[in-house]
Amino acid sequence: MRAALAVASECAPLVKTGGLADVVGALPAALAPEGWQLRVLLPGYRQVLSALGPAPAVMAQADLFGGPGRVLAGQAGGLDLLVLEAPHLFDRAGTPYLDLSGHDWPDNPERFAALSWMAARIATEGVGGWRPEVLHLHDWQAGLTPVYLRARGNGVATVLTIHNIAFHGLAPADRLWRLRLPPEGFTPEGFEYYGHISALKAGLVFSTRLSTVSPTYARELMTPEYGMGLDGVIRSRARDLVGILNGIDTAVWDPAADSLASPYRSPAGKAANRARLLAEFGLGPGEGPVCIVVARLSGQKGLDLLLQAVPALTDRGGRLALLGSGDRALENAWLRAAEGADRIAVRIGYDEALAHRMFAGADAVLVPSRFEPCGLTQLYGLRYGAIPVVALTGGLADTVIAANDAALKAGVATGLQVWPLTVEALAAALVRLCELHADRHAWARMQRNAMRHPVGWAASAPAYARLYEGAVAAA
Ligand code: ADP
Repeated sequence: MRAALAVASECAPLVKTGGLADVVGALPAALAPEGWQLRVLLPGYRQVLSALGPAPAVMAQADLFGGPGRVLAGQAGGLDLLVLEAPHLFDRAGTPYLDLSGHDWPDNPERFAALSWMAARIATEGVGGWRPEVLHLHDWQAGLTPVYLRARGNGVATVLTIHNIAFHGLAPADRLWRLRLPPEGFTPEGFEYYGHISALKAGLVFSTRLSTVSPTYARELMTPEYGMGLDGVIRSRARDLVGILNGIDTAVWDPAADSLASPYRSPAGKAANRARLLAEFGLGPGEGPVCIVVARLSGQKGLDLLLQAVPALTDRGGRLALLGSGDRALENAWLRAAEGADRIAVRIGYDEALAHRMFAGADAVLVPSRFEPCGLTQLYGLRYGAIPVVALTGGLADTVIAANDAALKAGVATGLQVWPLTVEALAAALVRLCELHADRHAWARMQRNAMRHPVGWAASAPAYARLYEGAVAAA
């Protein structure tokens, strides 16, 4: 087996705020059959340390950005882990990125610089006789790693995967010294970004290879509309960038045997699941499509547009169950919309099991994102026969076959696409959804197509293996 180290700020099932965690958690099992043994380096958040249990320290650093740090080696959640225990950085209540009042931890640059610093040490010195050939860096939290590697004169291969270009990992310029960064790298050709240090840009400039999580997002990233100020940098590395679609864990998201969806039944029992879902959300029975949304409530997800378009669904007998949390104003707007509306129900919070029950019972899942690097919920929808209604962007465009006349006639449609993403176009798609749902034959066919669509790692795991091999050859 060849050895690779993933470096990430979250990893399912141990710590998750979004799709990044699912991908980091799924890749080790997906890549093992390709001949790659993947260990994951994670910050020692409380829940990660308690899942790990007693574990030997394999590396220590007396002063890791303001306190001592140790790398512990062990297993948890079916994963081979290296966990960076550094209480001054990670032993706190809150999310990986936010304090209890929802603000970024002020020392986030140091917290994830520490992770990157130790990744560079592991690649250089090895731990317990094990040394990775490739470092797989995920998002800005691992972005400084190749800078630290260079400072050590280490040319090990690095692959940076962009899960979301919206998060740059910026730090003020006066932290250069504290972050132990070489001042000569603080230039427009290096990790300087409009007078700030950008951890993401560091990764984009200095990693051997780049990837992102869908072919369409790879193209979009090179445009000013989607590149969020880094499109020029990405264009300059176009030859080294590849888009590889995320898969989902088809054992965890298995409609035929979903223990998390219990007591809901298998998809053969869609009608029963649907009735349970309506009851669980306090929505009345009826004929129209039962739609769900499971998402972070952020501007990215386009749920403000959905809020305006939703009467097109509810006026035609459709219902909407939404599960999400995030932006307070958006949470309140949706809670207000649900108040007194008998066809809209909203749960604010994060609830994995409820998400599973929702996919098991839904007719359709709505994903009207303004941008979406890959998106996972449309993939769950496909697998569970919950027809995705998606914006035509990023991975959403790559994974859903739109129910236009030609696709319906050919019998290959799996969902609906909205373009351009406006309230009007979204409303029109919801009307179309209601019409299609009323056509039992067309709907059943679309559901069968959706459930047959490949959503696992079969195609993407070999693509990652080739990416690693290319990086090793180029490093
Ligand atoms: P992003 O990474 O931008 O949040 P993705 O669609 O790639 O979007 O991944 C989101 C993941 O988080 C999915 O696994 C989704 O089911 C899950 N998720 C998001 N919000 C919630 C929630 N409130 N409760 C349960 N799961 C959620």
